[in-house]
Amino acid sequence: MSIAIYPGSFDPITNGHLSILRRALEIFDEVVIAVAVNSEKKGLFSIAERMEMINTAARDLGLKGVSVDTFDGLLVDYVVNKGTNVVLRGLRALSDFDYEFQLALINRKLSRKVQTVFLMTDYKWLYVSSTIIKEAASLGGDINGLVPMVVRERLAERFPALRARLEAAANRNGHGNSSGGGND
Ligand code: ADP
Repeated sequence: MSIAIYPGSFDPITNGHLSILRRALEIFDEVVIAVAVNSEKKGLFSIAERMEMINTAARDLGLKGVSVDTFDGLLVDYVVNKGTNVVLRGLRALSDFDYEFQLALINRKLSRKVQTVFLMTDYKWLYVSSTIIKEAASLGGDINGLVPMVVRERLAERFPALRARLEAAANRNGHGNSSGGGND
């Protein structure tokens, strides 16, 4: 059974992440989304909230072979402990390349057993990052279609400006907009 570990912050998960996940499931039997605990980078959402959003999004999409976990310490140790040797990462434009290249090389230095596999993002998610989503949402920008429904709801709970916009839209339409949900 082939298992890939997809590590990251996922603060929060976006349709870009989900696109990589769906495509990886065409290659691997199981993908473990491993939410990294980073004591220096305090996220918007707690690790438990991030994991809950990932689980809900994967379930809503009917994805099979996904599990969600958390880890701290060295990624390569975690990967080996999970009984596999594959790290999955997504690549957007050139901006990701430098960092991802460094990360893959240091992990290779730390363990020759572990291989990093990259999937190139679909052009639809090229500009989507958790950071840009949080920024837009905090200013009341509707991020509909860029994140799963559960994330949109959680962001609206956090950001009054987004909440006000969604409530105004719901009042106009009789109910809320539907969300685009991670299609490739
Ligand atoms: P990290 O803090 O480790 O970069 P992220 O949650 O930001 O964690 O990203 C996890 C992985 O998902 C990284 O490999 C990143 O390049 C990839 N990723 C993030 N957004 C997208 C996207 N829109 N399309 C494809 N891959 C993405």
